[in-house]
Amino acid sequence: MTIESREQIIAQLRAAIGAPYVLARPEELMLYEYDASALDMDAPEIVAVPGSTADVAQVVRIAAAAGWPLVARGAGTGLSGGSVPAAGGVVVSLARLDQVLWIDPAARLARVQPGVVNVDLSTAAGPHGLHFAPDPSSQRSSTIGGNAAENAGGPHCLKYGVTSNHIVGATVVLADGSVAELSGAAADAPGYDLLGTFVGSEGTLGIATELLVRLTPNPEAIRTFLAIYDDLDAAADTVSAIIAAGIVPAALEMLEGLGVRLVEESVHAGYPTDARAVLLIEIDGLHEEIESQAEQIAVICREHGARELRAARDEAQRQKLWAGRKGALAACARLKPHYHIQDGVVPRSRLTEVLRFTEEVAQRYNLHVVNIFHAGDGNLHPLLVFDLREPGVRERAIAAGEEILRACVAAGGTISGEHGIGIEKRDYMRWIFSDDDIAAMLELRSAFDPHGIMNPCKQLPTGASCADIKQARGAARAMAQGAWI
Ligand SMILES: Cc1cc2nc3c(=O)[nH]c(=O)nc-3n(C[C@H](O)[C@H](O)[C@H](O)COP(=O)(O)OP(=O)(O)OC[C@H]3O[C@@H](n4cnc5c(N)ncnc54)[C@H](O)[C@@H]3O)c2cc1C
Repeated sequence: MTIESREQIIAQLRAAIGAPYVLARPEELMLYEYDASALDMDAPEIVAVPGSTADVAQVVRIAAAAGWPLVARGAGTGLSGGSVPAAGGVVVSLARLDQVLWIDPAARLARVQPGVVNVDLSTAAGPHGLHFAPDPSSQRSSTIGGNAAENAGGPHCLKYGVTSNHIVGATVVLADGSVAELSGAAADAPGYDLLGTFVGSEGTLGIATELLVRLTPNPEAIRTFLAIYDDLDAAADTVSAIIAAGIVPAALEMLEGLGVRLVEESVHAGYPTDARAVLLIEIDGLHEEIESQAEQIAVICREHGARELRAARDEAQRQKLWAGRKGALAACARLKPHYHIQDGVVPRSRLTEVLRFTEEVAQRYNLHVVNIFHAGDGNLHPLLVFDLREPGVRERAIAAGEEILRACVAAGGTISGEHGIGIEKRDYMRWIFSDDDIAAMLELRSAFDPHGIMNPCKQLPTGASCADIKQARGAARAMAQGAWI
C-alpha cells in the first residue's frame, strides 16, 4: 500500500461521499483503533462515514478497486476485536445511518438503518406497545447493525431468543459494491437462508445498510426478583431448578461475590455486598401466569438455599436492579482499569464447576476474576480484571482466558455465547471445528467476497496470511508515519 495510493483513495472517497465524511488525520484515526476489548488494537488508513446505502456502495467500490480491506463499524462496543482494522484499510463507520425509517405496528415490524442504537429502537416502538427484544447489556450504546453482525444476545434472550430471531431482512452492500436484499417480510422465503448466514457473520460477508426487524409486544406484567445466596452452588442449583420446573424466565442473571460488591459500590442498586452470589430473576407475561410463576420461584429459591428473595416493588426499583446488572462491566473499573472478558458457554449443570475453575485460574495467573453472566443460558462471562501498565499482564490475561475457554469446551460447551469470535478467538475455532469444516466456511465466505477484503483476519483462522499482513502493515506504517502527520 503506497502513500500515493492512499492519497488517491482519500481523494476518490471525498469526491464520492463528501470531504467532511472522510477522516484521514492520525488523531482522527486513533479513535477507530479499538473496540471494547482491551487487548487488540490496530489503526485504519482511512475512515469513511457514508450517509446512505449508495454512499456505502461507492466506498466499497473504491476500496475494492484498490484491493483495500474494509471494516464496518457500529458503536465499537464489540468485545472480540471485530471492528478493529487488523489489516488496516478503510473503516466504514455507520454512525450517520442512525434513523428508524418506519414502524408498522400492525405487522410488528420496523425498518431501521444499522447505526440506530439498540435502546433507541425500543424507545421509538414504545408508543405502539412494542419493543426490540434483544437487549445486550450495551444496549444504550451498541447499534442494531453491530447486534446483527454479532448475533448479539442479552439478558432477555433466554426467553425471546438472540438477535437472529428478530432480524427479518437486510439490505447489504457486498464486497463488489453491489446491493443485495436478503429475505424480507414474507415468512419462509424460498431458497437458501442467506439472511441466516449473514446474521452473525461479523462483517465478513458485507455491510448492512438497512435492517428489517421484528418488534415484540410489551408484556402485560413483569415481576423482578433478587435472590440472595451465601453459597455459590445453591445459586447455580436454583438456576437449573427454575428451568427444570418448566419456567422460562424472561431473564435469569447471576452476579457473583466480588462482582456484587463492585456493582453495589458504584451503582447502589440495592445488592447486599456480603452475598456470595445473587440471581436477578425476571418473569413476564399475562398477570395470572406470572403470579403463579412468582409463587413457584419463591418456593424453588427457598428450597435451594436462598437466604432472601426480594421483589422489586415498582418500576423504579426494577430499573435500579437492572442498572446494577447492566452497569457491571463499568463497575469493574473500580478494581483495575482494564478487563479481558470471556464469553464461554457451558451446560447449566456444569456452571459451578467452571465458575470455581475461573477463580482457580485467576489466582494462578495473579489476576482478579469477576463473574457476572447470563446464567439461564449457561453463558459465562468471567471478567479478568487488570492494569495493562503491569509488565506481562496482557500475556497472563490471554493465557488465563484461554484456559477458561478450554474448560468450557471440555465441559461440553463452546467458545462464544454472544460476543462473536473476532480476532480474539479466531484461532480457537480449531478447537471445535475440523480443517474440513473451516475450509467449507472459508469457501462460503469467498462466495460472498472472493478477494477477501471484508473484515479480513476475523472469525475464521486463515493460517499465516493475517500474520503476514500484520508484518507488512507494520513495515509500511513505520515508513509512512512521518509522511502522514
Ligand atoms: C458493557 C458492555 C456490555 C455488553 N453486553 C453484551 C451482551 O449482553 N450481549 C452481547 O451479545 N454483547 C454484549 N456486548 C458486546 C457488544 O456490545 C455487542 O457485540 C454489540 O452487538 C456490538 O455492537 P456495535 O454496534 O458496538 O458493533 P461494533 O463493535 O462496532 O462491531 C461489531 C462487529 O459487527 C460488525 N458490524 C458492525 N456494523 C455492521 C454492519 N452495519 N454491517 C456489517 N457488519 C457490521 C463489525 O465489523 C464488527 O465485526 C457488550 C459490550 C459492552 C462494552
